[in-house]
Amino acid sequence: MDSQKGDVEREAKNGLSGRNDNLCSSAGGLRRGVGTDNHKKSDKQKEELDEAIEISFAEPLRKSDAYKWQSGDDNDLAKSHQNDFHPSNPPYVPKGNRVCGGCNRDINYGNYLGCMGKYFHPECFRCHACSYPITEKEFSLSGKDTYHKTCFKELTHPKCEVCFQYIPLNGDGLIEYRLHPFWSQKYCPAHELDNTARCCSCERLEPMNVRYILLEDGRSLCLECLESAIMDTGECQPLYHSIRDYYEGMNMRIDQQIPMLLVERQALNDATTRDKNGFHRLPETRGICLYEEQTVASILRRPSVSGHRLVGMRTQYQKLTRRCEVTAILVLYGLPRLLTGAILAHHLMNAWLRLKGYRNLNPEVEAGICQVLSYMWLESEIMPNIPSSSSSSTTTSKKGGKSRNENKLGEFFMHQIAHDASPAYGGGFRAANAAVNTYGLRRTLDHIRLTGNFPL
Ligand SMILES: [Zn+2]
Ligand SMILES: [Zn+2]
Ligand SMILES: [Zn+2]
Ligand SMILES: [Zn+2]
Repeated sequence: MDSQKGDVEREAKNGLSGRNDNLCSSAGGLRRGVGTDNHKKSDKQKEELDEAIEISFAEPLRKSDAYKWQSGDDNDLAKSHQNDFHPSNPPYVPKGNRVCGGCNRDINYGNYLGCMGKYFHPECFRCHACSYPITEKEFSLSGKDTYHKTCFKELTHPKCEVCFQYIPLNGDGLIEYRLHPFWSQKYCPAHELDNTARCCSCERLEPMNVRYILLEDGRSLCLECLESAIMDTGECQPLYHSIRDYYEGMNMRIDQQIPMLLVERQALNDATTRDKNGFHRLPETRGICLYEEQTVASILRRPSVSGHRLVGMRTQYQKLTRRCEVTAILVLYGLPRLLTGAILAHHLMNAWLRLKGYRNLNPEVEAGICQVLSYMWLESEIMPNIPSSSSSSTTTSKKGGKSRNENKLGEFFMHQIAHDASPAYGGGFRAANAAVNTYGLRRTLDHIRLTGNFPL
C-alpha cells in the first residue's frame, strides 16, 4: 500500500492571490450567459474558471462595490459615483442614452444598475451559469462573466471524489488536494489518514457511496477490479497458458512444465522470505518465480462474496519439487485478469532467463527486462489491432470480450510499470525498454547474455 504514496501527486491551488488587475480589466463590457445548459462547461471555460476562482476568493467585498442599485434620478447617480471608488463603474451618461448591457434596449425609467462600465436592467443582470438574475449584493466575476457566488463556487471549487464535499482550505488558506496521476481522482488529503479503503489493484480510494470488497487477507478491491478478478489456481490456468503461448509467439518457447499457483498474501510473503534467489519487491510482493523446493498453500477453491467480504476460500498445501531450474511461479490471488497476467508475464520471463542460462544478472537488468515483457503483453491485450504473432493461439476465448473498464485498467497497469519509482523495477524498465525500442528484443537479450547489461 505504501508504494502508492509516491505516485500520488500533491496539488495546491492558491486561493488567495490578489488579482485586482483582472477585475479592473473587465470593465470593457459584460457578456451574458445564454441558454440553460451553461453547467456543461467546455474545457477551456473550465480553465478560465479555474483561474477565476482565485479572484472570487480574493475580492468578494470589493466586487460588491461595483454593484449598486441606482434609481432613475441622475442626481443619485452622481452621488453614488462619489461614494464608489471602484474603477469599473460606468461613466456618467445622460438619462435617455443609457443602453442595457444585457438586452441592448434603452433604460428609460425604473431601477437600473451599473457594473463594469455598463448599465443593466435589474432583470438583465444575470448569472452566466444558471441564467437567473443576480439580486445579491455580492457576486463573482470571471473575465466579463458574472455569476451568483454559489453558482460560481459550484462550478469552480474542487469537490472531493471520496466524501463529495468541497475540498477544505488548509492552514495557509489554500485549497489543497491529492490527485491520482492516472485516474485523476481528486480528494481531501485527510482521506489518506482516515482509513478510507484503497483498492489494492487500481489504487483508487473508496468513495463514500460505494462499498469495496474486503479480501480475507485485509486487502480491499474495488468493484471494477473485482469484475475480472482471478480467485483460484484452477481459474488462472487458461491465462497462464495463453501467456506461455504469447512467449512462444515471440520465439521464446518454454518447454518445461512449470507449476503456477495462486496463493494468499501470507503464503507469498513466506515463500519470498524463504527463497533466497528471488527478487523481492517492497513493500508488496505480488508474484514470485521460485527456484527452490517448498511447500506452498495453493488456493483450491475461490472465495465467494458475502456482504462486502470475500469468504470461504479453501487452500491446500502442495509440495513443489524441482523438476527443472525453476520450481514454480506463485501469484497473489484476487487481482484483475490483466494485472494477474502482467505479473505472470514478468515471472515467466524470470523463468525463461533462468532456463536459458542467464545467471547473476543485477536486479535492475533482470527486473527491467521482465517488466518489458509484462508491458508488451499488456499492450498486446488492450490494443486489439496489433496483429498477434502467436501462431497456435487457442486460448483466446476470454480475449476480445474486454470491457472499456478493463481496457482502462490495463492502461493503468502499463502506466504503473512506466512510472514505477523504484530503481530496479522502474529504472530497470525504462533502460530495458529504451534498449528494446532501439535494438529489438532479440538483440537486447543477446547483449544481456554476453555482457550482463543493456546495449546503450
Ligand atoms: Zn436589459
Ligand atoms: Zn446562478
Ligand atoms: Zn473528502
Ligand atoms: Zn480497483
